[in-house]
Amino acid sequence: MSLIEFKHVSKTYPNGVKGLKDVNLTINQGEFVAIIGLSGAGKSTLIRTINRMIDITEGQLTVDGTDVMTLKGKSLRRFRRKIGMIFQSFNLVSRSTAIKNVLTSMVPDMPWWKVLLGIFSKEQKMHALEALDKVGILDKAYTRCDQLSGGQQQRVALARTLNQTPTIILADEPVAALDPVTAHQVMGDFKRINEEMNISILINIHHVDLALKYATRLIGIRAGEIVYDGPVDQVTQEILDSIYNGASIPQAGD
Ligand code: ADP
Repeated sequence: MSLIEFKHVSKTYPNGVKGLKDVNLTINQGEFVAIIGLSGAGKSTLIRTINRMIDITEGQLTVDGTDVMTLKGKSLRRFRRKIGMIFQSFNLVSRSTAIKNVLTSMVPDMPWWKVLLGIFSKEQKMHALEALDKVGILDKAYTRCDQLSGGQQQRVALARTLNQTPTIILADEPVAALDPVTAHQVMGDFKRINEEMNISILINIHHVDLALKYATRLIGIRAGEIVYDGPVDQVTQEILDSIYNGASIPQAGD
């Protein structure tokens, strides 16, 4: 069964702007998909409809067999727990340590008084340390996040997401704020997590060279429409030109 399915999905914002136009798309468990396109093409809208940060206005979107528009309240919160979200700006509590940030992903399942007192069980701490180990920053577990580099902070964000044992990770421009070398490292983390843990990854990315190097499937979006969808090794210059409408193609370099 497909994991994510868009059927004739459109999104019209209240001001009349069409973010997505008649999108049809099937994504299977374990895929690593990069979404590219010009700024304003609809990449962020596409990603954010999957966990219902943005509501679609037409068509049907199913995730793991559930029509996402039918979810509300508790069922929506439970659904979102299975989908990790990574942002360009990391969204960490900068004055807290790495492990505390990772542990916050467990908060929705804890009684409020334990959260208030900051009481986490030994198992929860072990789980959080394992997540930090998976992204290679176990040695930074007790370092405050504002003392970590950008790449290390993004890895903490990734560990926090892993700690909620997601089936899907959505990442909205996760390496846009990083230098090229660090961007390659973080993309390598995504790839390893995808391959070793079979977690499906959908990533919006500005730099085409990073998309082609780490993802297995590429989706090109232009003015809200999917104009390419296929394996990265079949992408040609002509395809890139059509996605970018003839504009220059952004590269991160090595
Ligand atoms: P991208 O991620 O590719 O830069 P977006 O998905 O952010 O593109 O935006 C797609 C289109 O929808 C753009 O024209 C953008 O201006 C518009 N848009 C995005 N968010 C909103 C919003 N909250 N209200 C109105 N228009 C929006």
